Amino acid sequence: MKVLKFGGTSVGSVDSIRQIQQIIARQTDDCIVVVSALGGITDQLLRAAHLALENGEEYMEVYQQIRQRHLDMIHTLIQNATVRQMLCHEIERILDELRSILFGVHLIKDLSPKSEAAIVSYGERMSSRIVTAALPGAVRKNSLEFIRTEHKHGQILLNSELTDQLVREAFAPLPHLAVCPGFISRDSQTEEVTNLGRGGSDYTASILAATLGAEVLEIWTDVNGFMTADPRLIPDAYTIQSLSYVEATELCHFGAKVVYPPTIYPVCAKNIPIRILNTFCPDNAGTIIQAQAEADARYVCGLSSIRDVAMITVSGLSMVGVIGVNRRIFTALADNGISVFLVSQASSENSTSIGVRNEDAELACEVLNAEFAKEIATGEINHVAAEKGLATVAIVGENMKHTPGIAGKLFGTLGRNGINVVACAQGGQETNISFVIKADLLRKTLNVIHDSFFLSEY
Ligand code: ADP
Ligand code: ASP
Ligand code: MG
Repeated sequence: MKVLKFGGTSVGSVDSIRQIQQIIARQTDDCIVVVSALGGITDQLLRAAHLALENGEEYMEVYQQIRQRHLDMIHTLIQNATVRQMLCHEIERILDELRSILFGVHLIKDLSPKSEAAIVSYGERMSSRIVTAALPGAVRKNSLEFIRTEHKHGQILLNSELTDQLVREAFAPLPHLAVCPGFISRDSQTEEVTNLGRGGSDYTASILAATLGAEVLEIWTDVNGFMTADPRLIPDAYTIQSLSYVEATELCHFGAKVVYPPTIYPVCAKNIPIRILNTFCPDNAGTIIQAQAEADARYVCGLSSIRDVAMITVSGLSMVGVIGVNRRIFTALADNGISVFLVSQASSENSTSIGVRNEDAELACEVLNAEFAKEIATGEINHVAAEKGLATVAIVGENMKHTPGIAGKLFGTLGRNGINVVACAQGGQETNISFVIKADLLRKTLNVIHDSFFLSEY
């Protein structure tokens, strides 16, 4: 059995759904197909929700565009008149429901996280019905019935135990061809509609593949696999043939959008390979992600980056040698649901620098200033402030381990190109070197490093 996930661009037009029909027709195994919303629809749903909250009738224009796009697609795609009529009925019913919720937001001028999650779920509710109708013999399975989440540390996280049980029940016996909406889920206690986060359809597919013991998880997208860097930023980026789970995780966590970061773990734990493939070029071999990195691969397999990063430094002479300062920093941040993706501490111990997303920076400073209020009042620790407008870059590769000269080559390249490093970190695993620069230098930085590591012999 295989799980195949098709992203927004792969279900975005009649032509792309015809590509999916051809890809599925070639399959010999049982298949579970996971689909995202039609490309751009999730953004439009969010826009409609916010317009309904803030403005007059403008939200109805966006709603009408969403409605028209789905109905037009059905009319062109579905040839069988009976199937088409039934599908149109079903989609119109769903669209009416969506309009009522938007109208409610507009009337009472209140958009709670619960209403927003309900609104944003309509994209996958509709796309999964259209794709089911377009694939002969397919049955639709509703992810809202088996993907369950729970609230933890201010975040919505998967309830793995319950999901595992419900997925097994929902797929027994295993259908020959099933289609499921990605991204959407329900809270295990309240039954409210939730979701797995933007880009979360990859994660839905991984959960299903891991629970049902798929032979492979295929992520079908609009590029020829995982590339050495974001192809929109680096035109010379090329496809990486093979990555280890560790490398893929590092690249995704540091911003490679092609796979949603939580996707890797469930299949990695079951040793199920992931293939990244191109819906529009299905014969391209793409990238395989599995346990072992290729022994003869380059030292550095890829680059990734995150924009909109802030650095927060907790500093003060009294921190030197004091046990427990870092525990207080990380506990205070975790208690407030703030994720830290880079930490750098000099061995002198008089400062700890933390990389957080720009949008978390103010809250992080507030929380830390409150945590260390006493020490700040006596001058033992300095007032905590954030430096915004930064970006993080990571170079990743399992073969960097025990190889001298990689950091030298990296920082030499940056230095020769006049790029100042604000902070840097390398874990003991030696699979990732990450560093922070000014955001306006991001494109240049990626280009010079890409040239240095991928377009020259090393
Ligand atoms: P989908 O809609 O199929 O889920 P996404 O837009 O989420 O697709 O991810 C695919 C996009 O990720 C590509 O079109 C590409 O622009 C971008 N991307 C960023 N970094 C990388 C990378 N290292 N390799 C491949 N694509 C990348
Ligand atoms: N439709 C959702 C999004 O745009 C989920 C996904 O595409 O994976 O984020
Ligand atoms: Mg995606």
